[in-house]
Amino acid sequence: MTTFDGLRDEAEALLPETVDMRRRMHRRPELGLHLPETQATVLESLDGLDLEIETGDECSWVVATLDSGRPGPTMLLRGDMDALPMPEDTGLPYASEIANTMHACGHDAHTAMLAGSAKVLAGRKDELTGKVVFMFQPGEEGFAGAKVMLDEGLLDGRDVTRAFAIHQSTSAPSGFVGTRPGPLLASADFFDLTVTGKGGHASMPHFAVDPIPIACEMVGAFQTMITRKIEAFNPAVVTVAKIRAGTTTNVIPETATMAGTIRSVSEKSRALVIEEMHRIATHIAKAHGAEAALEVQTDGYPVTINDADAATWVLDVAKRLVGDMAMEMPDPVMGAEDWSFVLQQVPGAMAFLGTCPPDIPLAESAPNHSNRMIIHEDAMAVGTALYAAVALDECGGLST
Ligand SMILES: [Zn+2]
Ligand SMILES: [Zn+2]
Repeated sequence: MTTFDGLRDEAEALLPETVDMRRRMHRRPELGLHLPETQATVLESLDGLDLEIETGDECSWVVATLDSGRPGPTMLLRGDMDALPMPEDTGLPYASEIANTMHACGHDAHTAMLAGSAKVLAGRKDELTGKVVFMFQPGEEGFAGAKVMLDEGLLDGRDVTRAFAIHQSTSAPSGFVGTRPGPLLASADFFDLTVTGKGGHASMPHFAVDPIPIACEMVGAFQTMITRKIEAFNPAVVTVAKIRAGTTTNVIPETATMAGTIRSVSEKSRALVIEEMHRIATHIAKAHGAEAALEVQTDGYPVTINDADAATWVLDVAKRLVGDMAMEMPDPVMGAEDWSFVLQQVPGAMAFLGTCPPDIPLAESAPNHSNRMIIHEDAMAVGTALYAAVALDECGGLST
C-alpha cells in the first residue's frame, strides 16, 4: 500500500500558490469551450514541470502527461475550467471583473487544485510507474466539453486504467470528501410540449377544444406516472417548469405549451420516463379531441455512474488521507455532469470536496450556481492532495 506521508503537508505548502491561481481565474472567468486566458494561466502554471503538453484545436483544452518512463497503469485526472453566464454578488476582493460571468460552480478551484497536483506528482516522479494524465477541460456548463475532448482523441493511444475527477460543494463541510459506487449524478434532458386544441369564445367552450385543462391533466399525469411507473429505488424527476397559454379573459386559445426537465439516475428510468411521457401526452390529447407534440432533447448529459470498484477505492484512498472526513454518500445528487461521458468509456469515479466556509452554517451556505457562492479556499489543499493521492495509489508501484 502506498503511503501518503507528507502529501497533505506538500499540498498545504502549495496552498498560497493554489489560492493565487484560483483567484486570478476567478477575477477573469470565461465561458464555454473557448477560454484563452484560462488556458494561458494553466500553461503558465505547468511551465518548467517535466510534462508533455498538448492543447486543443477547436477549443481551449490542455492535456499534460507525466510519464514515469516505466511501464504501468495510466491514471486520468480531470479538472474543468469554465464559468457560468451570471452576475457575481459575493463582494469578495477578487470577485469577477467580467460582467455577467462568474465562477459559481468552483471550476476555478478544480483547475488550480489539478495544477497543484501536477506539481506534487512531478516532484514524486521517481515513485511512479506508468503515466498520469492531467485533463484540463473547458465547456462543462452545457457545452459537453468532455465529449469534445473525447471526440478530439483524449483516450486515443492511451490505455487509461482509471479516471478521477473532483467537484467542490459549498453544501458540504470544508475538507469533507464524499462519493458513492454507482449513480452519483443524474441525467439531464429537456422537453417542449405543445397541446393543440381548437380556439373559440370563452363563454362557449363546447364549440372549442380547450387546450388548457388538457395541458393541466398532463402535468398531473406526469407526476402520477413518476410515482406509479418508476421504481422507488431508481428515482426520476419530471418538472414542468414553464407553461403558457392564452392572451385574455374571454378567448379560448388554440394551443398551450409547456417545457421542463427530466432527471434520472439510471438509463433504464431515463428511457422509461421519456416513453411514458410520449404515451401520456398523446393519449390524453386524443381523449379530448386534441393533439400533442412532445419533443425531448435527449442529447443532454447522461447519468454520471461511478464504477463500483473505483468509487470504493477512491473512498479508501480518501480515508487514508483525511480519515473520518471521507464518507460514502447515501444518495445521488440530481445535478448533472459531462464527466459522465468519460465514465462511459473508462472505469473511474468523481468525488465531492466540501468547501463550506467554517464561519457560515451549512444550511446558509450559498450553493453552487448561486451569485453569492463562496468557497473556503483552505479546502483546496485537501483537493490537491486527493488528486495526487489517487494517482500515487494507482501508479505508485515502486513503493508498494
Ligand atoms: Zn455547474
Ligand atoms: Zn460544476
